[in-house]
Amino acid sequence: MPAVITLALSKGRIFDETLPLLEAAGIRALADPEVSRELVIGTSRADVRLLVVRAADTPTYVQYGAADLGIAGKDILLEHGGAGLYQPLDLGIAACRMMVAAPEGFDYAGSVRRGARLRVATKYVKTAREHFGAKGVHVDLIKLYGSMELAPLVGLADAIVDLVATGNTLRANGLAAVEEIGPISARLIVNQASLKVKRGAIQPLLEAFGRAVAARAAGNR
Ligand code: AMP
Repeated sequence: MPAVITLALSKGRIFDETLPLLEAAGIRALADPEVSRELVIGTSRADVRLLVVRAADTPTYVQYGAADLGIAGKDILLEHGGAGLYQPLDLGIAACRMMVAAPEGFDYAGSVRRGARLRVATKYVKTAREHFGAKGVHVDLIKLYGSMELAPLVGLADAIVDLVATGNTLRANGLAAVEEIGPISARLIVNQASLKVKRGAIQPLLEAFGRAVAARAAGNR
């Protein structure tokens, strides 16, 4: 019997944008997680199954080998730290930017120059700590789990660190990006032990994903 390969991913943008890559590898999901409540989804290949997990949990499932592979945003991987994970491929999907944002009119650059202590709300505490630490900016970080854009509007924070795609959410809340921390996209992650034990099954999948990503990049050029 062939080894079963388990791929963990979150529903929403990552799931939707992964489907074409799976199809390019000859794999079709047998259920839609937006409709079905199943958390383990079979595929057209008897030896490949999908786990539907919270985005922030994807690296944990792969780190402990409950999933052999996963698809996780770089934002999530930076917070997780990447222990036990092999990260062979930037899939180029779910692309956005990690930004510092503040209310329009807030003099962020001036505050930083004056050495003011800023209150920054974010879900991405580790990334924010490293970013501001490297720049020597004094911050008090406030951990939130979502809707960061609200924090400056109600006086909880001077600024936020969040993902920005179109910028519509910032604009709708009177905020503006003041600094880019870096580009973000989803990566394929692999459990290091799985790669050794199941290399025969995993390697062709990695290659198929790699070809699909290269073909899409060539098409976009
Ligand atoms: P936008 O209004 O298009 O700039 O999107 C910003 C909102 O969507 C914020 O609440 C972000 O946290 C979220 N967001 C944008 N891109 C991503 C992504 N690739 N992954 C997860 N959340 C995202």
